[in-house]
Amino acid sequence: DNAQPKKPAWIRVKAPGSPGYIATRNIMREHKLVTVCEEAGCPNVGECWSQGHATMMIMGEICTRGCTFCNVATGRPEALDIFEPARVADAVRKLGLKHVVITSVDRDDLPDGGAEHFARTIRAVRHAAPETTIEVLTPDFLKCGPEALETVVAARPDVFNHNLETVPGLYPQVRPGARYFHSLRLLQRVKELDPSMFTKSGLMVGLGERREEVLQVMDDMRSADVDFLTIGQYLQPTPKHHRVDRFVTPEEFASYEKAAWGKGFLMVSASPLTRSSYHAGEDFARLRAA
Ligand code: SF4
Ligand code: SF4
Repeated sequence: DNAQPKKPAWIRVKAPGSPGYIATRNIMREHKLVTVCEEAGCPNVGECWSQGHATMMIMGEICTRGCTFCNVATGRPEALDIFEPARVADAVRKLGLKHVVITSVDRDDLPDGGAEHFARTIRAVRHAAPETTIEVLTPDFLKCGPEALETVVAARPDVFNHNLETVPGLYPQVRPGARYFHSLRLLQRVKELDPSMFTKSGLMVGLGERREEVLQVMDDMRSADVDFLTIGQYLQPTPKHHRVDRFVTPEEFASYEKAAWGKGFLMVSASPLTRSSYHAGEDFARLRAA
């Protein structure tokens, strides 16, 4: 039975259409860029794009994995576009972004998982927009040697984000093809390679997890030295995707947030519409100013 619980009033989405939204969309189209904002049908797109904040998705629109919560198509990806890093950099400069989030599909078809392409994109953005802080949200490089991760870290993004997405017990259903402890170890390794780099991870809730499991994941993240945490409500992109088990209430989110601060995260965002990249720039700027 794939029937969904009814969407509660606190999941409210403003229709996009402001001049800022349209300007952002035009720049994305001109530069032939793919964004998670659109691919994932993110509910915050109106707000984020009207403020010139966006998450770029590099290395194509086809993923080698098939996570059951994700709207990106699975299949055989196209060859890498060597001009893409320059286009991303140019768009970041034109959008005048203070903070950019760069993510990608999984590229299990490439020997380095796309690590070098990530590094090139970071360097191109750094060069074109030196004031912009850069956050990467990377795949897990599960099938690559340790050099893949080292290549991305060596390009020195300001924030290294890799989402655990859900509790370990739900991995087979939600993230088949990924391994919980591999992802956790990847985050820890980033900190070992460069202790000055901020690390970040996130969870979706409402997939069927229990509260104690979420608290355990927070502990696991802290033992891997993860600095920032995001928790948001899972929304089903289409009826074919993993069903929403339940809508977590704003009070429960507030309680997760409080627990997370208590565990020592430097930045926490937990709310129904929190996404991995939601308000990432503002939060990071506040932290750096503190
Ligand atoms: Fe894009 Fe992230 Fe904002 Fe959603 S929250 S619209 S994915 S930048
Ligand atoms: Fe979606 Fe990422 Fe999973 Fe690919 S690896 S299906 S892009 S969540």
